Amino acid sequence: MKKSIQKHVFLDHAATTPVHPDVLETMMPFFGSHYGNPSSFYGLGRKAHQAIEKARGKVAALIGAEPGEIIFTSGGTEADNLAIQGIAFANVHRGRHIITSAIEHPAVLNVCSHLKQRGFSVTQLPVDSYGNVNAADVKEAIRNDTILITIMHANNEIGSLQPIKEIGTIAKECGIIFHTDAVQSIGKIPVNVRELKVDLMSISSHKIYGPKGIGALWVKSGTRIAPLLYGGRQEMNLRPGTENVPAIVGFGKASEISMAMLNDDITSHLHHLRDRLEQSIAERIPSARINGHPQKRIAHISSISFKSLESLSIIANLDVHGIYASGGAACTTGKIESSHVLAAMNIPPETASGTVRFSLGFENTEQDVDHAIDILTKTVNRLHAFYQQTPNETGMITFHEVEHAAEAEQILQDAHFPFALIATPHHIKQVYCCHVALEHHFVDKDRILRLLGKNGVEFAGTYTNGSSLMDNSPNPA
Ligand code: PLP
Repeated sequence: MKKSIQKHVFLDHAATTPVHPDVLETMMPFFGSHYGNPSSFYGLGRKAHQAIEKARGKVAALIGAEPGEIIFTSGGTEADNLAIQGIAFANVHRGRHIITSAIEHPAVLNVCSHLKQRGFSVTQLPVDSYGNVNAADVKEAIRNDTILITIMHANNEIGSLQPIKEIGTIAKECGIIFHTDAVQSIGKIPVNVRELKVDLMSISSHKIYGPKGIGALWVKSGTRIAPLLYGGRQEMNLRPGTENVPAIVGFGKASEISMAMLNDDITSHLHHLRDRLEQSIAERIPSARINGHPQKRIAHISSISFKSLESLSIIANLDVHGIYASGGAACTTGKIESSHVLAAMNIPPETASGTVRFSLGFENTEQDVDHAIDILTKTVNRLHAFYQQTPNETGMITFHEVEHAAEAEQILQDAHFPFALIATPHHIKQVYCCHVALEHHFVDKDRILRLLGKNGVEFAGTYTNGSSLMDNSPNPA
């Protein structure tokens, strides 16, 4: 038996976006006939150089900057590293104090931790219960030896928008360099470096329908900054190495497309879909908690906590139905780490651990959102019902493929067995199986295995709760 999985609904645009077909088309010649090194003097090299400069102009236009202020990097992470370390080391004679916030991306938080070990001092500002930094706190934290403020524009987990313009004004008054990580905001809302009063801005291509592995740091001209790497003279002496020409060209095209989308008011489309998603979840799952401020939040990110449930299990259920969303926290190879953002907002751990992040893109439709809500509602109801009536002893069945879990779900649902699809516990995944498992009442084990066997559903192994020992029994006839 094969259950056909419906069309995928991708609701994880804060993690990455599909490469736009026009971006791919623009990149292709640079993998083929346009293979020159941009530093070469002859025609082939000049063509590559011109393509890079054209892309630089488009990236600059997206954020209201001058092309000569754009430094291409390998992505948002490198841009954050270059900004923070580059400013710290170039300005160490002025002081060693850096101000940041508790909800930054690890690409900022971990660089600050590294600098702390190298003798810098870092003030990490708190956020309110909506995940917003208070600009007055920034002012209060400024010291005589403060050389850098680094605060993100839109948070990647909950979408909270920070008062960048206000902080920028404070930074200007005090003569302090101000960096913002705008990886999540560009292409979703209008972003202008001059209006925001920043000195450096990190951006990344793969969040705006461009290729992965390319990003940029905007550095206001005249800003004193040191490189991270030493080598050739590329990228205004700030980022040596032969340029990744196809990726830069793709980033340029993606920026141009993003500009056109902003002109077509993509922000309203994202807002509309997000409001539909949140209103519908609030109506159908009243126990759900929507995180973040109703207004001070980016249009495309919705973080929702489902109390007493595990976010990985919710995500696994959505995955079985072709709906792709993320844990509210950093999700590394199937393990959810507790979220420093939700913790900073004082969300209790038992609520935070059931948090799912939905993030929308231009290609999403109302139908996508409605379909996702239907599946989500069924998932949450089933998980709650199963855990409410479950006896102490449960069993678990693992599968090699998600499709097999989907088949089992359909069969057990039709046969009215109590069960829940869950994320395969980490210790079990050491044995080859997929990330979706099925939990059932232990007393039903034999009947369930017989039923699955009769329907030809393959499974990887069976477990009793609390036991890590696998009974790798073949399917019963
Ligand atoms: N900053 C923020 C806010 C992000 O969301 C991300 C990626 O998720 C990054 C930085 C890192 O960007 P990249 O994946 O291009 O290294």
